Amino acid sequence: MKPIRIELPTEFDVGPVNCYLFTEPEPILVDCGVELPQSWEALLAGLAEHNLTPADIRRVVITHPHVDHSGQAAKIATLSGCPVWIADLGYDWLVDPQKMFSLRADYYRDHFLRQAGIPEEMAQMIQAYFAQVGTDTMPVPPESVQTFRVGDWLEMGGAQWQVLHMPGHASTQTCFYQPDSRQFLSADMLLPKTPTPIVERPLPNQPRQPSLPIFMESLDRCEALDIDWVYPGHGDPFQNHRQLIQKQRDRIHKRKGDALALVQQGYRTAYDLMNEMYAHYPPAFRFAGLWMLIGYLDLLQAEGKVEVNFVDGVWNFYVNK
Ligand SMILES: [Zn+2]
Repeated sequence: MKPIRIELPTEFDVGPVNCYLFTEPEPILVDCGVELPQSWEALLAGLAEHNLTPADIRRVVITHPHVDHSGQAAKIATLSGCPVWIADLGYDWLVDPQKMFSLRADYYRDHFLRQAGIPEEMAQMIQAYFAQVGTDTMPVPPESVQTFRVGDWLEMGGAQWQVLHMPGHASTQTCFYQPDSRQFLSADMLLPKTPTPIVERPLPNQPRQPSLPIFMESLDRCEALDIDWVYPGHGDPFQNHRQLIQKQRDRIHKRKGDALALVQQGYRTAYDLMNEMYAHYPPAFRFAGLWMLIGYLDLLQAEGKVEVNFVDGVWNFYVNK
């Protein structure tokens, strides 16, 4: 059977999020929306169309532990007593979001935002924002959580779906692929609009992982899959995934060229580059652009076109001549 799409509102720029329902042989939900009264109402309405309530759900499967995808998992698990399944990679974020977000917030304030040259006041705001998200996110009790691994097969809708690891937007991103029907639950890996390559806290004593180059590798792996229908985490299901992938690659390369031109013009810090690249956004909204920009700079460094050194603890980008 095909996954049934239920669209749930969020308060984020990305717009509504999709959860997918399988009704047979048992009701399973893949992702479940942000914890918000409107989102819960929409979920109830979507389930009611199939004569179901959250208490009927036998399993919630999470593609990646971002609040728009996993936010209502604890509530559903409490009502139905069902397990919440997630890849082992995402377990910590699901059961202890407060700790994980506060680790990210501190890494941003003490390392990443400082290195990017973000002014102190703005860095404090961003740190406080992430810490707040962690506090606002309801943890899923560990006893409700069951983990699976990359490469495992999950039974959903009477078919076997393989768990694929597709990092880039999130290091914890998994997608589910059904090879016989060539259906692909892509979560936030393949979206109508390129997902943001979120900068993640590196493991202790490890360098920061370059999210956009990693995302590009995941794109290549998606392109190689034989897919008929993509069921994305946001927006309408679509076909012709290779066409979409090529379009996104083209745009990434174009924007990477824009970033290179700015470095050539003498913009040195990520903060200055961000303000030029995203001058058309009000300053408070440019932060999301920073993730993208860091991605372009990571690609340019990997290609040897841009180099970086530290000046007073701040990344200083320059063109490799
Ligand atoms: Zn999402």
